[in-house]
Amino acid sequence: MDAFVYTGIASRVVFGAGSLQHLEREIELLGARRALVLCTPGQRDQAERVAAIIGDRAAGIFDQAVMHVPIESAREARAEAQRMGADCAIAIGGGSTTGLGKAIALDSGLPILAIPTTYAGSEMTPIYGITEAGLKKTGKDLRVLPRTVIYDPELTIGLPVGLSITSGLNAMAHAAEGLYAQDTNPIMGLLAEEGLRAMSRALPALKADPADLSARSDALYGAWLCGTVLGNVGMALHHKLCHTLGGSFNLPHAEVHTVVLPHAMAYNTRAVPDVMARIGRAIGSPDDAAGGLFDLAQSQGAPVALRDIGMQEADLDRAADIAVGNPYWNPRPIERTALRQLLQDAWEGKRPK
Ligand code: NAD
Repeated sequence: MDAFVYTGIASRVVFGAGSLQHLEREIELLGARRALVLCTPGQRDQAERVAAIIGDRAAGIFDQAVMHVPIESAREARAEAQRMGADCAIAIGGGSTTGLGKAIALDSGLPILAIPTTYAGSEMTPIYGITEAGLKKTGKDLRVLPRTVIYDPELTIGLPVGLSITSGLNAMAHAAEGLYAQDTNPIMGLLAEEGLRAMSRALPALKADPADLSARSDALYGAWLCGTVLGNVGMALHHKLCHTLGGSFNLPHAEVHTVVLPHAMAYNTRAVPDVMARIGRAIGSPDDAAGGLFDLAQSQGAPVALRDIGMQEADLDRAADIAVGNPYWNPRPIERTALRQLLQDAWEGKRPK
């Protein structure tokens, strides 16, 4: 066993079908009396259900969470929290809603209780992002880490199948990169492998029956583990590319991850063959992790080409330039020619070799 450093990041997790029923107890444990409930306009119903469960402890609902946390919505939500005298925020939704909660916490120190309804994993990380004048700034601060997370698979039944698959692959990307992170450790390795295993088992099952509670539970369990990996170790080429493509070309978050992941794995295969073998074993494709991830996405009807999710071929050169500038650490050095080829292959939707 090699030497390593492991820092535990503490948060309380309540997991299981129907666990939303414990919400009032969890709010009480946080010592809060007035919770502001956050959601997107489309998840207002779920936020109202949350408010009804906690009754007098609900200060109000702010339903204007949007992708990438624009500074204007963060300011509005902070002002609303202050006006209502909120002493806690409950974020019910995906990464966009959790992100809004984090923006409030960063400024005010308000405790966040997250109720994730996608597999993005933001609830398990101290990473925040706020977009100002079209530029997304990210940072790390333990104040934004949700204190309590309620994972209730029943709340994910309504997540559209297409988004369920791409969001699941988004989660798998955290685990895959976590396995070769510069600062990885055996504990994160265990979580990453188990997260990959649970998610790759869940996706075909929930595609076959989106209301299959057992598949939904496996997927949310996998999302938790993969999100924990994201929150604990550094990410590499794959996340850098997705950040570039999502941020600069406004491509949908989970779909970008889905398309790029097999290609990023293929890029790194020769640099970390043992890691690829672990990923391959976990997803049931022992000899070909990259190809196995591509097949998993394609067989579940997810997009596999950047050209199908809004990327213009004419922008690939600029994307390569941005990704090469200020790169993240990666097990294989970032070479512009190879990276440009990766982007071309991903744009065309080629199965990686
Ligand atoms: P999202 O939060 O934008 O959700 C996508 C859409 O699906 C929204 O309209 C949402 O209301 C809807 N939705 C979510 N759950 C639903 C459900 N169960 N039923 C019906 N509709 C539902 O998407 P996302 O992929 O979860 O999050 C993406 C954002 O999160 C990006 O901005 C990304 O940068 C951020 N993110 C941050 C971190 C971090 O650690 N800071 C980690 C992962 C993602």
